[in-house]
Amino acid sequence: MKHEFVEHMPEKLEDDTIYVSISFEIVMHKCACGCGNEVVTPLSPAEWSVTFDGETISLYPSIGNWSLACKSHYWIRKNKIEWSTQWSKEEIEEVKNSDFIAKKEYYEKSAEEQNKDILDEVSPVKNKSIWSKFRSWFK
Ligand SMILES: [Zn+2]
Repeated sequence: MKHEFVEHMPEKLEDDTIYVSISFEIVMHKCACGCGNEVVTPLSPAEWSVTFDGETISLYPSIGNWSLACKSHYWIRKNKIEWSTQWSKEEIEEVKNSDFIAKKEYYEKSAEEQNKDILDEVSPVKNKSIWSKFRSWFK
């Protein structure tokens, strides 16, 4: 894989390319199995984080495409795909649930922080929620 730092995501993603948009806090690539599906990994403390070592990109945690037909599961480490084991249905449900809880907690927490910011009128930039960032990206 190669990586590309972009502002906006291109309309058509190239194969074997990891697109990183720091401004929109999002990483996209085409599923590594070759099924052609585009995989969106938002960057946030509750979701994915990206590491750039000056030459290559790593994503954490792994990419589990259980919503896609291929159900592929792999890691992107130093611009390379490392295939993980196939997940059983039970494992997928378990991860989905824990993932959902982590996200819910994160968004509730950030909503609280945002309210606090509005009250204190301290940091107007922080008031922009994750979802409004998402919406601006999809425009
Ligand atoms: Zn796939």
